[in-house]
Amino acid sequence: MYMKKDVNGSRAFGSKQKLKDTGDYAKAIIETMHESLLMLTGDLFIRHANKGFYKTFCVTPEETEGCYLYDIANAEWNIPELKEQMSLLQSRDIPFTHLEVTRDFPMVGRRTVWLNANKFPMKEGKGSMILLAIQDITEQKMLEERLKGNEERLYLLLRNASDIITVFDEHGTIKYESPAIEPVLGYKPEERVGKNIHTDAIVHADDRSIKIELLQKAIESPTENISGEFRIRHKDGSYHIIEAIFNNMLENKKINGIIATYRDVTERKSLEQHKDEFIGIASHELKTPVTSLKAYLQILEENILKANGSQSVDILFKMNKQVDRLAILIKDLLDFTRIEGGKLKFREDMYELNELVLEIVDEVQLTTKQHKIQVHLSRPVLIEGDRYRTGQVLTNLLNNAIKYSPQGDSVVVRTKVDKQSITISVQDFGIGIEHGFLTKVFDRFFRVNETQYHHFPGLGLGLYIAAEFVKRQGGQIWVTSEPRKGSVFYFLLPILLSKEPGNK
Ligand code: ADP
Repeated sequence: MYMKKDVNGSRAFGSKQKLKDTGDYAKAIIETMHESLLMLTGDLFIRHANKGFYKTFCVTPEETEGCYLYDIANAEWNIPELKEQMSLLQSRDIPFTHLEVTRDFPMVGRRTVWLNANKFPMKEGKGSMILLAIQDITEQKMLEERLKGNEERLYLLLRNASDIITVFDEHGTIKYESPAIEPVLGYKPEERVGKNIHTDAIVHADDRSIKIELLQKAIESPTENISGEFRIRHKDGSYHIIEAIFNNMLENKKINGIIATYRDVTERKSLEQHKDEFIGIASHELKTPVTSLKAYLQILEENILKANGSQSVDILFKMNKQVDRLAILIKDLLDFTRIEGGKLKFREDMYELNELVLEIVDEVQLTTKQHKIQVHLSRPVLIEGDRYRTGQVLTNLLNNAIKYSPQGDSVVVRTKVDKQSITISVQDFGIGIEHGFLTKVFDRFFRVNETQYHHFPGLGLGLYIAAEFVKRQGGQIWVTSEPRKGSVFYFLLPILLSKEPGNK
Protein backbone atom coordinates (compact mmCIF):
# COMPACT_ATOMS: atom_id res chain seq x y z
CA MET A 1 0.00 0.00 0.00
CA TYR A 2 2.59 2.47 1.09
CA MET A 3 4.93 1.61 -1.77
CA LYS A 4 2.27 2.11 -4.40
CA LYS A 5 1.73 5.66 -3.26
CA ASP A 6 5.39 6.68 -3.52
CA VAL A 7 6.61 4.63 -6.39
CA ASN A 8 6.16 6.05 -9.94
CA GLY A 9 7.57 4.91 -13.29
CA SER A 10 11.24 4.13 -14.05
CA ARG A 11 12.62 6.69 -11.61
CA ALA A 12 10.67 4.83 -9.05
CA PHE A 13 12.42 1.57 -9.82
CA GLY A 14 15.84 3.14 -9.25
CA SER A 15 14.87 4.78 -6.04
CA LYS A 16 13.23 1.55 -4.88
CA GLN A 17 16.62 -0.11 -5.13
CA LYS A 18 18.15 2.74 -3.26
CA LEU A 19 15.50 2.64 -0.58
CA LYS A 20 16.15 -1.01 0.01
CA ASP A 21 19.85 -0.52 0.30
CA THR A 22 19.90 2.38 2.66
CA GLY A 23 17.06 1.24 4.78
CA ASP A 24 14.93 4.20 3.68
CA TYR A 25 12.01 1.84 3.46
CA ALA A 26 12.00 1.56 7.18
CA LYS A 27 12.71 5.28 7.37
CA ALA A 28 9.58 6.01 5.35
CA ILE A 29 7.48 3.71 7.45
CA ILE A 30 8.66 4.99 10.77
CA GLU A 31 8.01 8.55 9.69
CA THR A 32 4.29 7.82 9.63
CA MET A 33 4.23 6.54 13.22
CA HIS A 34 3.11 8.72 16.15
CA GLU A 35 5.35 6.86 18.49
CA SER A 36 8.98 8.01 18.76
CA LEU A 37 11.27 5.81 16.73
CA LEU A 38 15.02 5.74 16.25
CA MET A 39 16.82 3.89 13.49
CA LEU A 40 20.27 2.99 14.74
CA THR A 41 23.30 1.41 13.19
CA GLY A 42 24.51 -1.83 14.73
CA ASP A 43 26.96 0.20 16.83
CA LEU A 44 24.25 2.57 18.02
CA PHE A 45 24.76 5.67 15.88
CA ILE A 46 21.48 7.34 15.01
CA ARG A 47 20.72 7.05 11.35
CA HIS A 48 17.32 8.52 11.55
CA ALA A 49 14.80 9.73 14.13
CA ASN A 50 11.16 10.25 13.25
CA LYS A 51 9.01 13.38 13.77
CA GLY A 52 7.41 11.74 16.78
CA PHE A 53 10.81 11.61 18.50
CA TYR A 54 11.70 15.25 17.74
CA LYS A 55 8.29 16.43 18.87
CA THR A 56 8.15 14.43 22.08
CA PHE A 57 11.69 15.21 23.24
CA CYS A 58 12.00 18.73 21.72
CA VAL A 59 15.30 18.07 19.94
CA THR A 60 16.40 18.85 16.38
CA PRO A 61 17.74 16.51 13.63
CA GLU A 62 21.06 18.43 13.77
CA GLU A 63 21.73 17.47 17.34
CA THR A 64 20.48 13.92 16.80
CA GLU A 65 21.27 12.32 13.46
CA GLY A 66 24.71 10.82 13.08
CA CYS A 67 25.28 11.00 16.84
CA TYR A 68 25.98 8.17 19.24
CA LEU A 69 22.78 7.18 21.06
CA TYR A 70 24.20 7.60 24.56
CA ASP A 71 25.61 11.07 23.77
CA ILE A 72 22.49 12.85 22.53
CA ALA A 73 20.47 15.29 24.66
CA ASN A 74 23.11 15.72 27.35
CA ALA A 75 23.58 11.95 27.52
CA GLU A 76 20.00 11.55 28.69
CA TRP A 77 19.74 8.17 27.00
CA ASN A 78 22.79 6.92 28.75
CA ILE A 79 20.59 4.78 30.96
CA PRO A 80 22.14 1.70 32.61
CA GLU A 81 19.06 -0.55 32.10
CA LEU A 82 18.85 0.48 28.42
CA LYS A 83 22.57 -0.09 27.94
CA GLU A 84 22.33 -3.54 29.44
CA GLN A 85 19.41 -4.59 27.21
CA MET A 86 21.00 -2.98 24.14
CA SER A 87 24.22 -4.89 24.58
CA LEU A 88 22.26 -8.16 24.77
CA LEU A 89 20.49 -7.18 21.56
CA GLN A 90 23.77 -6.24 19.88
CA SER A 91 25.73 -9.29 20.95
CA ARG A 92 23.10 -12.03 21.17
CA ASP A 93 20.19 -10.71 19.09
CA ILE A 94 17.84 -10.69 22.09
CA PRO A 95 15.15 -8.06 21.46
CA PHE A 96 13.46 -6.30 24.35
CA THR A 97 10.00 -4.84 24.94
CA HIS A 98 8.30 -2.74 27.60
CA LEU A 99 11.52 -1.70 29.30
CA GLU A 100 10.09 0.99 31.60
CA VAL A 101 12.27 3.99 32.29
CA THR A 102 11.52 7.25 34.11
CA ARG A 103 13.87 10.15 33.47
CA ASP A 104 14.08 13.91 33.74
CA PHE A 105 14.60 15.01 30.12
CA PRO A 106 16.22 18.46 29.75
CA MET A 107 13.59 19.97 27.47
CA VAL A 108 10.42 18.15 28.42
CA GLY A 109 10.77 17.33 32.08
CA ARG A 110 10.02 14.06 33.80
CA ARG A 111 8.69 11.37 31.50
CA THR A 112 8.05 7.66 31.78
CA VAL A 113 8.64 5.66 28.62
CA TRP A 114 8.50 2.11 27.41
CA LEU A 115 11.44 1.09 25.26
CA ASN A 116 11.15 -1.67 22.67
CA ALA A 117 14.01 -2.62 20.37
CA ASN A 118 14.72 -5.14 17.66
CA LYS A 119 17.61 -5.84 15.35
CA PHE A 120 17.30 -6.34 11.57
CA PRO A 121 20.11 -7.62 9.36
CA MET A 122 20.92 -5.45 6.32
CA LYS A 123 21.07 -7.01 2.90
CA GLU A 124 24.28 -8.30 1.41
CA GLY A 125 26.19 -8.44 4.67
CA LYS A 126 25.99 -4.68 5.29
CA GLY A 127 25.76 -5.20 9.01
CA SER A 128 22.56 -4.70 10.92
CA MET A 129 20.11 -2.01 11.88
CA ILE A 130 18.42 -1.52 15.24
CA LEU A 131 14.95 -0.06 15.57
CA LEU A 132 14.28 1.54 18.95
CA ALA A 133 10.65 2.45 19.65
CA ILE A 134 9.94 4.82 22.52
CA GLN A 135 6.40 4.90 23.82
CA ASP A 136 5.63 7.81 26.14
CA ILE A 137 3.38 6.42 28.91
CA THR A 138 3.68 9.39 31.28
CA GLU A 139 -0.02 10.33 31.13
CA GLN A 140 -1.14 6.73 31.36
CA LYS A 141 1.16 6.17 34.33
CA MET A 142 -0.12 9.29 36.09
CA LEU A 143 -3.70 8.17 35.56
CA GLU A 144 -2.87 4.71 36.84
CA GLU A 145 -1.18 6.16 39.90
CA ARG A 146 -4.10 8.49 40.55
CA LEU A 147 -6.49 5.55 40.28
CA LYS A 148 -4.26 3.43 42.48
CA GLY A 149 -4.08 6.30 44.98
CA ASN A 150 -7.87 6.59 45.01
CA GLU A 151 -8.22 2.86 45.39
CA GLU A 152 -5.72 2.77 48.25
CA ARG A 153 -7.44 5.72 49.94
CA LEU A 154 -10.79 3.99 49.65
CA TYR A 155 -9.31 0.76 50.98
CA LEU A 156 -7.74 2.57 53.93
CA LEU A 157 -10.98 4.42 54.65
CA LEU A 158 -12.94 1.19 54.58
CA ARG A 159 -10.34 -0.64 56.65
CA ASN A 160 -9.96 2.01 59.28
CA ALA A 161 -13.64 2.85 59.53
CA SER A 162 -15.09 1.56 62.76
CA ASP A 163 -18.11 0.29 60.82
CA ILE A 164 -18.07 -2.87 58.72
CA ILE A 165 -19.89 -2.78 55.39
CA THR A 166 -21.34 -6.01 54.06
CA VAL A 167 -23.24 -6.47 50.78
CA PHE A 168 -25.69 -9.38 50.56
CA ASP A 169 -27.47 -10.69 47.49
CA GLU A 170 -31.22 -11.23 47.74
CA HIS A 171 -30.67 -14.78 49.05
CA GLY A 172 -28.54 -13.56 51.93
CA THR A 173 -25.15 -14.58 50.55
CA ILE A 174 -22.28 -12.19 51.25
CA LYS A 175 -21.05 -10.59 47.99
CA TYR A 176 -18.69 -8.06 49.56
CA GLU A 177 -17.14 -7.60 52.98
CA SER A 178 -15.22 -4.42 53.83
CA PRO A 179 -11.69 -4.75 55.25
CA ALA A 180 -12.83 -3.24 58.59
CA ILE A 181 -14.08 -6.73 59.49
CA GLU A 182 -10.51 -7.71 60.34
CA PRO A 183 -9.78 -5.13 63.06
CA VAL A 184 -13.34 -5.39 64.43
CA LEU A 185 -14.09 -9.14 64.30
CA GLY A 186 -10.77 -10.74 63.38
CA TYR A 187 -11.83 -12.32 60.04
CA LYS A 188 -10.32 -11.57 56.64
CA PRO A 189 -12.92 -10.34 54.09
CA GLU A 190 -12.19 -13.33 51.83
CA GLU A 191 -13.11 -15.70 54.69
CA ARG A 192 -16.57 -14.14 54.78
CA VAL A 193 -17.48 -13.66 51.11
CA GLY A 194 -19.78 -16.46 49.95
CA LYS A 195 -21.18 -17.21 53.44
CA ASN A 196 -24.98 -17.32 53.69
CA ILE A 197 -27.05 -15.66 56.39
CA HIS A 198 -29.15 -18.82 56.92
CA THR A 199 -26.22 -21.05 57.72
CA ASP A 200 -23.60 -18.58 58.96
CA ALA A 201 -22.12 -20.08 62.12
CA ILE A 202 -20.59 -16.87 63.45
CA VAL A 203 -23.96 -15.35 64.36
CA HIS A 204 -25.08 -16.42 67.84
CA ALA A 205 -27.57 -19.29 67.43
CA ASP A 206 -30.21 -17.38 69.44
CA ASP A 207 -29.84 -14.30 67.24
CA ARG A 208 -29.73 -15.83 63.76
CA SER A 209 -33.47 -15.34 63.27
CA ILE A 210 -33.09 -11.62 64.14
CA LYS A 211 -30.52 -11.14 61.38
CA ILE A 212 -32.57 -13.12 58.84
CA GLU A 213 -35.65 -11.05 59.73
CA LEU A 214 -33.69 -7.80 59.23
CA LEU A 215 -32.63 -8.90 55.75
CA GLN A 216 -36.18 -10.03 54.94
CA LYS A 217 -37.61 -6.71 56.06
CA ALA A 218 -35.00 -4.82 54.00
CA ILE A 219 -36.02 -6.84 50.91
CA GLU A 220 -39.70 -6.10 51.54
CA SER A 221 -39.25 -2.37 52.28
CA PRO A 222 -36.68 -1.01 49.82
CA THR A 223 -37.04 2.59 50.95
CA GLU A 224 -36.54 2.01 54.66
CA ASN A 225 -33.44 1.69 56.87
CA ILE A 226 -33.93 -1.47 58.88
CA SER A 227 -31.97 -1.64 62.11
CA GLY A 228 -31.43 -4.20 64.82
CA GLU A 229 -28.91 -5.89 67.10
CA PHE A 230 -27.41 -9.36 67.23
CA ARG A 231 -24.31 -11.10 68.55
CA ILE A 232 -21.45 -12.19 66.30
CA ARG A 233 -18.58 -14.41 67.36
CA HIS A 234 -15.16 -12.77 67.03
CA LYS A 235 -12.43 -15.00 65.60
CA ASP A 236 -10.99 -15.19 69.14
CA GLY A 237 -14.23 -16.88 70.29
CA SER A 238 -15.76 -13.96 72.22
CA TYR A 239 -19.20 -12.66 71.27
CA HIS A 240 -19.58 -9.03 70.20
CA ILE A 241 -22.84 -7.11 70.14
CA ILE A 242 -23.41 -5.67 66.67
CA GLU A 243 -25.78 -2.84 65.83
CA ALA A 244 -26.75 -3.27 62.18
CA ILE A 245 -28.55 -1.14 59.60
CA PHE A 246 -29.80 -2.88 56.46
CA ASN A 247 -30.42 -0.91 53.29
CA ASN A 248 -31.97 -2.38 50.15
CA MET A 249 -29.97 -1.35 47.08
CA LEU A 250 -31.00 -4.23 44.83
CA GLU A 251 -32.31 -1.75 42.27
CA ASN A 252 -29.00 0.09 42.09
CA LYS A 253 -27.25 -1.47 39.09
CA LYS A 254 -23.73 -0.90 40.44
CA ILE A 255 -24.45 -2.39 43.86
CA ASN A 256 -27.33 -4.76 43.18
CA GLY A 257 -27.46 -5.95 46.76
CA ILE A 258 -28.50 -5.25 50.32
CA ILE A 259 -25.97 -3.15 52.19
CA ALA A 260 -25.56 -3.83 55.88
CA THR A 261 -23.52 -1.51 58.11
CA TYR A 262 -22.31 -3.15 61.31
CA ARG A 263 -21.11 -1.30 64.38
CA ASP A 264 -19.53 -3.04 67.35
CA VAL A 265 -21.44 -1.71 70.39
CA THR A 266 -20.16 -4.25 72.93
CA GLU A 267 -18.25 -1.71 74.97
CA ARG A 268 -21.07 0.84 74.88
CA LYS A 269 -23.54 -1.82 76.03
CA SER A 270 -21.33 -2.92 78.88
CA LEU A 271 -20.90 0.71 79.95
CA GLU A 272 -24.66 1.21 79.81
CA GLN A 273 -25.08 -1.87 81.97
CA HIS A 274 -22.48 -0.54 84.43
CA LYS A 275 -24.32 2.77 84.45
CA ASP A 276 -27.60 1.06 85.34
CA GLU A 277 -25.89 -0.89 88.11
CA PHE A 278 -24.23 2.33 89.25
CA ILE A 279 -27.54 4.15 89.59
CA GLY A 280 -28.82 1.20 91.65
CA ILE A 281 -25.75 1.31 93.94
CA ALA A 282 -25.80 5.12 94.16
CA SER A 283 -29.42 5.26 95.30
CA HIS A 284 -28.81 2.41 97.76
CA GLU A 285 -25.65 4.03 99.15
CA LEU A 286 -27.31 7.41 99.52
CA LYS A 287 -30.37 5.85 101.13
CA THR A 288 -28.38 4.06 103.88
CA PRO A 289 -26.93 7.15 105.61
CA VAL A 290 -30.19 9.07 105.19
CA THR A 291 -32.17 6.20 106.79
CA SER A 292 -29.67 5.98 109.67
CA LEU A 293 -29.75 9.73 110.14
CA LYS A 294 -33.52 9.65 110.29
CA ALA A 295 -33.47 6.87 112.90
CA TYR A 296 -30.85 8.67 115.03
CA LEU A 297 -32.83 11.88 114.80
CA GLN A 298 -35.92 10.09 116.14
CA ILE A 299 -33.93 8.66 119.07
CA LEU A 300 -32.35 12.06 119.69
CA GLU A 301 -35.75 13.64 119.73
CA GLU A 302 -36.97 11.09 122.29
CA ASN A 303 -33.77 11.49 124.38
CA ILE A 304 -34.04 15.22 124.43
CA LEU A 305 -37.63 14.79 125.49
CA LYS A 306 -36.45 12.51 128.32
CA ALA A 307 -33.40 14.83 128.86
CA ASN A 308 -30.83 11.98 128.78
CA GLY A 309 -27.68 13.92 127.81
CA SER A 310 -24.86 11.26 127.69
CA GLN A 311 -26.58 8.96 125.19
CA SER A 312 -27.38 11.98 123.02
CA VAL A 313 -23.65 12.81 122.62
CA ASP A 314 -23.01 9.27 121.32
CA ILE A 315 -25.91 9.56 118.88
CA LEU A 316 -24.68 12.95 117.71
CA PHE A 317 -21.24 11.37 116.98
CA LYS A 318 -22.88 8.60 114.93
CA MET A 319 -25.01 11.16 113.08
CA ASN A 320 -21.92 13.13 112.30
CA LYS A 321 -20.25 10.04 110.77
CA GLN A 322 -23.28 9.36 108.59
CA VAL A 323 -23.37 12.99 107.45
CA ASP A 324 -19.65 12.69 106.55
CA ARG A 325 -20.39 9.55 104.56
CA LEU A 326 -23.24 11.28 102.77
CA ALA A 327 -21.02 14.28 102.04
CA ILE A 328 -18.29 12.00 100.55
CA LEU A 329 -20.81 10.22 98.33
CA ILE A 330 -22.21 13.51 97.09
CA LYS A 331 -18.72 14.93 96.51
CA ASP A 332 -17.71 11.83 94.53
CA LEU A 333 -20.84 12.16 92.40
CA LEU A 334 -20.15 15.83 91.79
CA ASP A 335 -16.49 15.23 90.88
CA PHE A 336 -17.59 12.43 88.58
CA THR A 337 -20.04 14.66 86.71
CA ARG A 338 -17.38 17.39 86.49
CA ILE A 339 -14.84 14.96 85.00
CA GLU A 340 -17.37 13.52 82.55
CA GLY A 341 -18.56 16.99 81.54
CA GLY A 342 -14.98 18.20 81.03
CA LYS A 343 -15.54 20.90 83.66
CA LEU A 344 -12.79 19.95 86.05
CA LYS A 345 -10.53 22.89 86.83
CA PHE A 346 -7.15 22.59 88.52
CA ARG A 347 -5.44 25.18 90.66
CA GLU A 348 -1.74 25.92 90.26
CA ASP A 349 -0.58 25.97 93.87
CA MET A 350 3.01 25.64 94.95
CA TYR A 351 3.20 23.46 98.03
CA GLU A 352 5.37 21.12 100.04
CA LEU A 353 4.08 17.60 99.66
CA ASN A 354 5.13 16.07 102.99
CA GLU A 355 3.21 18.76 104.87
CA LEU A 356 0.09 17.86 102.91
CA VAL A 357 0.61 14.14 103.58
CA LEU A 358 0.84 14.74 107.35
CA GLU A 359 -2.26 16.94 107.28
CA ILE A 360 -4.35 14.32 105.45
CA VAL A 361 -3.05 11.45 107.60
CA ASP A 362 -4.06 13.38 110.76
CA GLU A 363 -7.56 13.97 109.33
CA VAL A 364 -8.09 10.35 108.29
CA GLN A 365 -6.62 9.01 111.57
CA LEU A 366 -9.49 10.74 113.37
CA THR A 367 -11.99 8.48 111.56
CA THR A 368 -10.48 5.17 112.76
CA LYS A 369 -9.41 3.79 116.11
CA GLN A 370 -8.67 0.28 114.77
CA HIS A 371 -5.99 1.29 112.26
CA LYS A 372 -2.79 3.10 113.08
CA ILE A 373 -1.53 5.07 110.08
CA GLN A 374 2.26 4.98 109.99
CA VAL A 375 4.16 7.55 107.94
CA HIS A 376 7.66 7.30 106.38
CA LEU A 377 8.62 10.50 104.63
CA SER A 378 11.42 11.31 102.20
CA ARG A 379 13.12 14.71 102.06
CA PRO A 380 10.69 17.62 101.54
CA VAL A 381 9.99 18.70 97.95
CA LEU A 382 7.99 21.42 96.29
CA ILE A 383 5.15 20.44 94.03
CA GLU A 384 3.21 22.63 91.64
CA GLY A 385 -0.41 21.67 91.15
CA ASP A 386 -3.75 21.45 92.89
CA ARG A 387 -3.00 20.89 96.59
CA TYR A 388 -6.62 20.25 97.45
CA ARG A 389 -7.15 17.59 94.77
CA THR A 390 -3.85 15.83 95.55
CA GLY A 391 -5.08 15.75 99.16
CA GLN A 392 -8.32 14.17 97.91
CA VAL A 393 -6.34 11.43 96.12
CA LEU A 394 -4.51 10.54 99.32
CA THR A 395 -7.75 10.70 101.34
CA ASN A 396 -9.43 8.28 98.89
CA LEU A 397 -6.52 5.83 99.03
CA LEU A 398 -6.36 5.99 102.84
CA ASN A 399 -10.15 5.55 103.20
CA ASN A 400 -9.99 2.52 100.88
CA ALA A 401 -6.99 1.08 102.76
CA ILE A 402 -9.02 1.25 105.97
CA LYS A 403 -12.28 0.08 104.38
CA TYR A 404 -10.75 -2.91 102.60
CA SER A 405 -8.70 -4.13 105.57
CA PRO A 406 -11.45 -4.88 108.09
CA GLN A 407 -9.14 -7.23 110.04
CA GLY A 408 -6.06 -5.01 109.69
CA ASP A 409 -4.59 -2.77 112.34
CA SER A 410 -2.19 -0.63 110.35
CA VAL A 411 -1.81 1.31 107.13
CA VAL A 412 1.57 2.62 105.93
CA VAL A 413 2.11 5.82 103.96
CA ARG A 414 5.47 6.43 102.28
CA THR A 415 6.91 9.17 100.10
CA LYS A 416 9.93 8.57 97.88
CA VAL A 417 11.71 11.29 95.90
CA ASP A 418 13.40 10.61 92.58
CA LYS A 419 15.17 13.01 90.23
CA GLN A 420 12.04 14.35 88.60
CA SER A 421 9.15 12.92 90.59
CA ILE A 422 7.81 11.98 93.96
CA THR A 423 5.92 8.75 94.58
CA ILE A 424 3.41 8.43 97.39
CA SER A 425 2.33 4.92 98.41
CA VAL A 426 -0.44 3.67 100.69
CA GLN A 427 -0.09 0.11 101.91
CA ASP A 428 -2.74 -1.95 103.64
CA PHE A 429 -2.87 -5.52 104.93
CA GLY A 430 -6.40 -6.28 103.90
CA ILE A 431 -8.41 -8.33 101.43
CA GLY A 432 -6.18 -7.52 98.43
CA ILE A 433 -7.15 -7.56 94.76
CA GLU A 434 -7.06 -10.41 92.23
CA HIS A 435 -4.37 -9.90 89.59
CA GLY A 436 -6.89 -9.59 86.74
CA PHE A 437 -8.56 -6.56 88.37
CA LEU A 438 -5.44 -4.52 89.06
CA THR A 439 -5.98 -2.09 86.19
CA LYS A 440 -9.77 -2.33 86.17
CA VAL A 441 -10.14 -0.87 89.68
CA PHE A 442 -9.38 2.57 88.17
CA ASP A 443 -12.32 2.31 85.75
CA ARG A 444 -15.44 4.27 86.54
CA PHE A 445 -18.16 2.29 88.36
CA PHE A 446 -15.83 -0.67 88.72
CA ARG A 447 -16.20 -2.62 91.95
CA VAL A 448 -14.66 -6.00 92.64
CA ASN A 449 -17.45 -8.46 93.45
CA GLU A 450 -17.93 -8.47 97.16
CA THR A 451 -17.00 -11.56 99.08
CA GLN A 452 -19.83 -13.36 100.77
CA TYR A 453 -18.54 -12.24 104.18
CA HIS A 454 -18.29 -8.51 103.71
CA HIS A 455 -20.26 -5.67 102.32
CA PHE A 456 -18.05 -2.72 101.54
CA PRO A 457 -20.03 0.44 100.86
CA GLY A 458 -19.03 2.55 97.85
CA LEU A 459 -19.90 3.64 94.33
CA GLY A 460 -16.85 2.43 92.42
CA LEU A 461 -15.87 6.04 91.72
CA GLY A 462 -13.14 6.85 94.26
CA LEU A 463 -10.21 5.35 92.34
CA TYR A 464 -11.50 6.62 89.00
CA ILE A 465 -11.62 10.15 90.39
CA ALA A 466 -8.19 9.73 92.03
CA ALA A 467 -6.71 8.49 88.74
CA GLU A 468 -8.18 11.46 86.84
CA PHE A 469 -6.78 13.92 89.41
CA VAL A 470 -3.32 12.35 89.18
CA LYS A 471 -3.24 12.06 85.38
CA ARG A 472 -4.47 15.60 84.90
CA GLN A 473 -1.48 16.80 86.96
CA GLY A 474 0.98 14.93 84.75
CA GLY A 475 1.30 11.97 87.12
CA GLN A 476 0.65 8.23 87.18
CA ILE A 477 -1.26 5.88 89.47
CA TRP A 478 -0.99 2.09 89.88
CA VAL A 479 -1.43 -0.70 92.35
CA THR A 480 0.29 -3.92 93.35
CA SER A 481 -1.62 -6.43 95.41
CA GLU A 482 -1.91 -9.97 96.66
CA PRO A 483 -5.31 -11.40 97.53
CA ARG A 484 -5.80 -11.84 101.30
CA LYS A 485 -2.43 -10.20 102.00
CA GLY A 486 -3.04 -6.59 101.09
CA SER A 487 -2.46 -3.89 98.49
CA VAL A 488 -0.09 -1.01 97.83
CA PHE A 489 -1.50 1.91 95.86
CA TYR A 490 1.08 4.29 94.38
CA PHE A 491 0.78 7.66 92.75
CA LEU A 492 3.59 9.65 91.20
CA LEU A 493 3.70 13.40 90.65
CA PRO A 494 6.30 15.46 88.81
CA ILE A 495 8.35 17.81 91.00
CA LEU A 496 9.78 21.24 90.28
CA LEU A 497 13.41 20.56 89.49
CA SER A 498 14.93 23.92 90.19
CA LYS A 499 13.09 24.66 93.41
CA GLU A 500 13.82 23.11 96.75
CA PRO A 501 11.82 24.20 99.81
CA GLY A 502 13.49 27.19 101.42
CA ASN A 503 14.94 28.10 98.01
CA LYS A 504 11.80 29.78 96.75
P1 ADP B 1 -15.47 2.01 95.99
O1 ADP B 1 -14.50 1.78 97.08
O2 ADP B 1 -16.39 3.13 96.22
O3 ADP B 1 -16.14 0.77 95.54
P2 ADP B 1 -13.16 2.72 94.40
O4 ADP B 1 -13.13 3.32 93.03
O5 ADP B 1 -12.48 3.47 95.47
O6 ADP B 1 -14.68 2.48 94.70
O7 ADP B 1 -12.53 1.29 94.28
C1 ADP B 1 -12.93 0.42 93.25
C2 ADP B 1 -12.82 -1.02 93.70
O8 ADP B 1 -11.45 -1.35 93.88
C3 ADP B 1 -13.48 -1.29 95.03
O9 ADP B 1 -14.83 -1.61 94.87
C4 ADP B 1 -12.66 -2.46 95.56
O10 ADP B 1 -13.18 -3.65 95.05
C5 ADP B 1 -11.29 -2.26 94.96
N1 ADP B 1 -10.35 -1.63 95.93
C6 ADP B 1 -10.04 -0.33 96.06
N2 ADP B 1 -9.13 -0.12 97.02
C7 ADP B 1 -8.84 -1.35 97.51
C8 ADP B 1 -7.96 -1.83 98.55
N3 ADP B 1 -7.18 -1.00 99.25
N4 ADP B 1 -7.95 -3.15 98.78
C9 ADP B 1 -8.71 -4.00 98.06
N5 ADP B 1 -9.56 -3.63 97.10
C10 ADP B 1 -9.63 -2.32 96.84
